Amino acid sequence: MRAGGAARRVAILGSTGSIGRQALDVVEALAGRVRVVALAARRDAAALAEQAVRWQPEAVALTDPQAVEEFRQMAAHWHGELLVGPQALEEVARWPSADVVLVAVVGVAGLLPSLAAVEAGKELALANKETLVAAGELVRERAASRAARIVPVDGEHSAIYQCLRAERRDRVSRIVLTASGGPFLRRSLESMEAATPEEALQHPTWRMGPKITVDSATLMNKALEVIEARWLFDLPPERIEVLIHPQSVVHGMVEFVDGSSLAHLSRPDMRLFIQYALSGMDRLPPGFGRLDWTVPHTLTFEPPDLRRFPCLGYAYEALAVGGTLPAVLNAANEVAVQRFLDREVPFGRIPKLVRAAMDLHEPRSRPTLEEILEADRWARALVRSL
Ligand code: MG
Repeated sequence: MRAGGAARRVAILGSTGSIGRQALDVVEALAGRVRVVALAARRDAAALAEQAVRWQPEAVALTDPQAVEEFRQMAAHWHGELLVGPQALEEVARWPSADVVLVAVVGVAGLLPSLAAVEAGKELALANKETLVAAGELVRERAASRAARIVPVDGEHSAIYQCLRAERRDRVSRIVLTASGGPFLRRSLESMEAATPEEALQHPTWRMGPKITVDSATLMNKALEVIEARWLFDLPPERIEVLIHPQSVVHGMVEFVDGSSLAHLSRPDMRLFIQYALSGMDRLPPGFGRLDWTVPHTLTFEPPDLRRFPCLGYAYEALAVGGTLPAVLNAANEVAVQRFLDREVPFGRIPKLVRAAMDLHEPRSRPTLEEILEADRWARALVRSL
């Protein structure tokens, strides 16, 4: 942590993706309160070079060596250290001058860098839900042993984190994650079966990357969030609930033992949650828009339909069994979603592929990191072959 009014120094992993770009909007809006010291991306050399020239970080990482030449040509006006290869993300995650590490890479690729950040004692601003889904118990233990704080960037978890900040944990009776319901909320099971990537990518309220948008259409996104919440807030699964709230105004709620609830409301804009994390949980103007209470609003809440959205039920099952099963659920889903986006399988196959992987897996309890990664690889290979 920086003393007094000094800028917080941030490393952004996944800077060319949807969250990464919005994080740089936030850095711009915070005008000097946050300084970018490192950026990392997979292979979008052109976008990364533009960011490097604009923000002049000390280090930039590209995990795909084939993108290096293009990057060098385009980033002639940046003078810092270029890190290349699969380990470069971890190097950026423990970059010495960084106070906060925003992990915004997609998929289980976020796990090792997140672990590297907490092991280096950094504050982890976590936008990658797969980290806690695959290895929640392990990441939690290692963060605790280094007194490294994990601040959620996912909207629902940030909302709940904010509602909990001034409260006693032993007075919480349950938390509620809200879900927009995605583009298929009112569609029949039959018509969802054959839905196309174009239809699945039409999210009604949120601006996000393709993987998470498809996950919102299956409600797998909320399933992953339930598992993430279990580790972030150390609550048993039966005290984590999901409500469909299509307006995406209430992002999360906490109910206390006296029956009262606190909720977080805002416009659905990820930049607000990113700003909360990057600013050190401060509330700073001008923000990213306000709810307009001069016009009528209707806020509705309803329980999810597990028949049409079976993935949500799989999360509770994976948590009940524990061990390597959540990692398998996540890996199977990542490959199933990619196959759907590549038009190899119809939408309706996504939950079935995840189900098959869960059924065929023999879970290990209290897994090591290597066992988690092995389960992840096993599930990927399986779902590619089905
Ligand atoms: Mg979310």
